[in-house]
Formats: sequence, structure tokens, C-alpha cells
Amino acid sequence: MSQNPILRRCIACKKVLDRKYFLKVTRDFQNGVVFSGGMGRSAYLCPTESCFEEALKRKRLQKSLRCDIHSSVFNMLQKQLNTCIDSDTEA
Ligand SMILES: [Zn+2]
Repeated sequence: MSQNPILRRCIACKKVLDRKYFLKVTRDFQNGVVFSGGMGRSAYLCPTESCFEEALKRKRLQKSLRCDIHSSVFNMLQKQLNTCIDSDTEA
């Protein structure tokens, strides 16, 4: 039995992929914007610099989650992104 992938769309480039390839940002109803877990509206983003830039410049996260995104959230997102890119190049 193969599991069906759960498809999600990147908020920046609109590419549709299995959600495991995306960075997930959730607007948790208690804890605000979180990166892992959380209950509430979620946005998905490719772990690439270009999609991060697009999301940042065009306020895609704000629109997708329908709330203000603190700059610290983008800083954390960029850190996660760098971790992804580093592990890719070292492999
Ligand atoms: Zn993307």
C-alpha cells in the first residue's frame, strides 16, 4: 500500500507538491504563528531563497494567514531555510 501524498501549494510560486517538501507556518489560535504543529490556518512555502523573498516582499504570509507577521517570524523562517540549504549542499 502506498500512501497518497498530501498535496499543498506554495504561497510564493504556487507550485503544488507533497507537503513534506514545504516549510509549514501555522497561525495557532493560542500561540500565534508557529512552525511546527499548532492548530489553525496554515501556509506552505518552498525551502528556497526565491520563495522566501517573494513571500516577504509581497506579504504572502500575511495574506495567507490573514494576520500580521512579526519580523522575528521571517527571521526564524530564514534560519530554517538556511538549515535546509546547508544540509542539501553538504549531502
Ligand atoms: Zn515556492
